[in-house]
Amino acid sequence: TALRIADFKDSIFGVISRLARENNAVNLGQGFPDFDGPEWLKEVAFRKMQEGHNQYAPFQGIVGLRQEVSNYYKKFYSLNYNPESEITITVGATEAIYVVITALINPGDEVIVLEPFYDSYVASIKMAGGIPVPVTMHAPDFTIDRQELEKAITPKTKLLILNNPHNPTGKVWAKEELLDVASIAQKHDLYLMSDEVYEFLLFDGAKHIPTATLDGMLERTITVSSAGKTFGLTGWKIGWICANEKVTRACRLVHQYVTFAVSTPMQEAVAEGLTKLSDYLPGFVSLYKGKRDLFYTEMKNLGFEFAIPKGTYFMMVPISKKTDLKDVDYAMKLIQERKVATVPPSAFYLKSTEGEKYLRFCFAKKDETLRAAAKNLQGL
Ligand code: PMP
Ligand code: GLN
Repeated sequence: TALRIADFKDSIFGVISRLARENNAVNLGQGFPDFDGPEWLKEVAFRKMQEGHNQYAPFQGIVGLRQEVSNYYKKFYSLNYNPESEITITVGATEAIYVVITALINPGDEVIVLEPFYDSYVASIKMAGGIPVPVTMHAPDFTIDRQELEKAITPKTKLLILNNPHNPTGKVWAKEELLDVASIAQKHDLYLMSDEVYEFLLFDGAKHIPTATLDGMLERTITVSSAGKTFGLTGWKIGWICANEKVTRACRLVHQYVTFAVSTPMQEAVAEGLTKLSDYLPGFVSLYKGKRDLFYTEMKNLGFEFAIPKGTYFMMVPISKKTDLKDVDYAMKLIQERKVATVPPSAFYLKSTEGEKYLRFCFAKKDETLRAAAKNLQGL
């Protein structure tokens, strides 16, 4: 096999889901809901198929979806993206990430990844021949040290990747923190890829600040998002890239040869779904807030102590009060002995060992699943 994938392993999500099945464990590992997305949106998808939207879509995405993506960025964030020249539809955010990195990175270019990171960033950087350079978001608040970030930048640094709201920690970046990173990107003339797939999963009044809205950041920011989390339909795999015209052109050149076009009826359905966002979101957020509160209370009762996350559907739970084991071994023990599957976060780090003292729990699960997990963990 090719050198560029020589050190690749099975992704942690696949590994944990397999172990969960083999051990008949309650699966709070891989991030996806164990319940279905909205009935009305599934009906739209079915109707779109019946209406004959079943052949190849235009490679950059159907006009209707690009228009609706543009509309919501304008409505929610006052951002103006031209659907013709600045928005591209992809097979989920995962393809978007791959495409952006492939479009921008030459062999030997360095890319700053803030760890813990979503695992596909580093894989995509390596596939492009780039060099991932980790900068740690330090526990327990997962904050960046400005000097450490500055030190990691060299003349070869081209891109910085930021994820907000943040998987796996559930952190929602404060504006001052974003401005810190943004000012460094400007000072060193870097592109910034902002992965905002959890943009609508926010609790307790937290507000999403798209990186592209920060002063002077619009031109250098590439925003990636997707419909999977927002509509609780992760298997639909509809994502998008918003970027300036030049970067969009480069991304489209890659995308046309990676997947060419994205599922037509699913794009049609998501386009219609986005027109209903304002009505849909309050119920969506309160559903997940209920799950977060339920599971947080259960974890507190079990004796775990940590700050309640303000975003995403993950909790990064400190384990050192319970065990001397590292995350990977403790995760294995919980799967085998307690029948609860979680993700060991050290898979999301290249440099720091801070992740060894945590486990990531996904609470996008039926209340009964969350209660079953808590019951299995009784007396830890
Ligand atoms: N970025 C982050 C931070 C994620 O958590 C995920 C979802 N697993 C993705 C990107 C990929 O999203 P999609 O399912 O749309 O490919
Ligand atoms: N984003 C989800 C997670 O973080 C899963 C995505 C995947 O399986 N690649 O768990």
